[in-house]
Amino acid sequence: MEAGIVGLPNVGKSTLFNALTLSKAAQSENYPFCTIEPNEGIVSVPDQRLDRITKYIVPQKLIPATLKLVDIAGIVKGASEGEGLGNKFLSHIREVDAILQVVRCFEDPDVTHVAGSVDPLADIDTIETELMLADLQSLENALGKAQRTARSGDKEAKLRVTVIEKCSEHLNEGKPLRLLNLNEAESAAISSFGLLTAKPILFVANVDETDLDGKNPLVDKVRQHADKVGADVACVCAKLEAEIAELDEEDREEMLTDVGLAEPALNQIARAAYHTLGLQSYFTAGEKEVRAWPVPIGATAPQAAGVIHSDFERGFIRAEVYSLADLEEHGGEKEIRQAGKLRVEGKSYVMQDGDICHFLFNV
Ligand code: GDP
Repeated sequence: MEAGIVGLPNVGKSTLFNALTLSKAAQSENYPFCTIEPNEGIVSVPDQRLDRITKYIVPQKLIPATLKLVDIAGIVKGASEGEGLGNKFLSHIREVDAILQVVRCFEDPDVTHVAGSVDPLADIDTIETELMLADLQSLENALGKAQRTARSGDKEAKLRVTVIEKCSEHLNEGKPLRLLNLNEAESAAISSFGLLTAKPILFVANVDETDLDGKNPLVDKVRQHADKVGADVACVCAKLEAEIAELDEEDREEMLTDVGLAEPALNQIARAAYHTLGLQSYFTAGEKEVRAWPVPIGATAPQAAGVIHSDFERGFIRAEVYSLADLEEHGGEKEIRQAGKLRVEGKSYVMQDGDICHFLFNV
């Protein structure tokens, strides 16, 4: 699963990306279009539960869940018509599973704002409009073909035509497809189009160092908007985070204390992005490794096993499952088993966030 960082030029995307991936690869300069090719990075998702597990099961290796981030260059007004590097950006967005939109909520006279003033809602609107226009174009392109196939009596194509029309109508009302309720068959009919506004979105409010508590009227506006469009919001000072990310462990702790943060805001963003991607974690825990694995919320036990290896899904027999609370109460897996708390779950079991599992399977 991957999330793409988007936003207008000069809002702090590359700064955030660098901080998140600790990579110096993405250039961060006060210059629109400085990031042309998408940069990719892997980010681990900090999870306190891993530390709690390792109090009882001491592994040789501790492996957090990760997600892939793509730094997509800035979108400008007119991108859907090829303005800036329009179409190229849009095709990169098409490939990601979720969108992380960085919105500028920081004032800095030294950093040019493409639209002339700091106005996060106007920025959000600019991008959403471009994405909606791009979706309308994709739908329009697909409609002709679907109509021709439908004329020959093809049932699937008929459904596709209906859904395309429904989506276009919704977009023409100025609403992203994320807010349109489609049933499973309808969603499937258009799933190959890679529609941009159907993707889940997380707004990352990039604030001044002095606004880290999130009490900033601009951030409030972003929050109100996010509520309306079914999105989450995370707050960060990208510039500060980039500085923190470059420090070694000890200095990092000191700096965090100085600025009054319990942990880098990046941790919160990684978790929020994970959530926006519709993921939750389950754990495997043994002496060799304690590891968090990402699964889509609602996944069954065989699907979860399949995240480790596709053979595990195919040959799934059953899962042995316990919770962190069980571990903390009984102190070890053997004790959990003795207390009769080790649950045996079959193929239809729906994974719960934080399950600790063993899978039994045939090869
Ligand atoms: P991008 O075009 O969206 O990738 O933006 P960049 O990450 O290249 O940032 C543009 C400029 O804004 C750079 O000079 C950054 O140092 C600066 N910048 C980024 N984040 C912040 C922030 O939180 N506060 C301030 N004051 N400047 C920032």
